[in-house]
Amino acid sequence: MNIRAVPLKYSGTTYRSTLEADWAATFNSLGWYFEYEPWAVDLGDGDRYLADFHLPAQNVWCEVKGGHNERLDKTRKFRRAVADPDQPGGELVVLLRAAGEPGRSANWQCVTGAYRSITINQCGICEQWCFTQYAVDGWFCRHCQAPDGLIAERQYMSAVHAKSVQQEMALRIGDTSRDYVKELCPEHGRLPFVKAPRPARLRSA
Ligand SMILES: [Zn+2]
Repeated sequence: MNIRAVPLKYSGTTYRSTLEADWAATFNSLGWYFEYEPWAVDLGDGDRYLADFHLPAQNVWCEVKGGHNERLDKTRKFRRAVADPDQPGGELVVLLRAAGEPGRSANWQCVTGAYRSITINQCGICEQWCFTQYAVDGWFCRHCQAPDGLIAERQYMSAVHAKSVQQEMALRIGDTSRDYVKELCPEHGRLPFVKAPRPARLRSA
């Protein structure tokens, strides 16, 4: 399948795709400092990998993949090269996906495929928000390195994660009308996905 990405200029940078520009806008909405394609990482076997985003304050790399999984094996290899799965706060690689319903909420997942293992949580000490992989990091804050800094209830889940929480709770309690994600995380839960403004010729993109 050949998917042609449409470049989009947003806030002074030309992104290779509208989805990349949208993620830049979403990072901005969180107040996050990010770098776009800052440098290629040597994978150790002569191969190099240029990830889409680097969040240096969090020690996180992000790779944008829309509906396709082309070259995902290379992203997994990149993760193996940079990430230490035994070290809290070690380098984390996050796959950024297209937004999902309801209300176009942001969607992301672990490179290994899990949607539930990576959330965005706020730290009760420095008050910053960061990606976290609970199974590895626990509530370790990637900004201030507080071992138990992050607050479990102050959490954004990926769109797929939120959907699975919704289904699981509806099954357990038997009420499909309630928004359990909102009950669990009243102020957060689903992260609104922000679209970078399109010029007129791209309005439908
Ligand atoms: Zn902190």
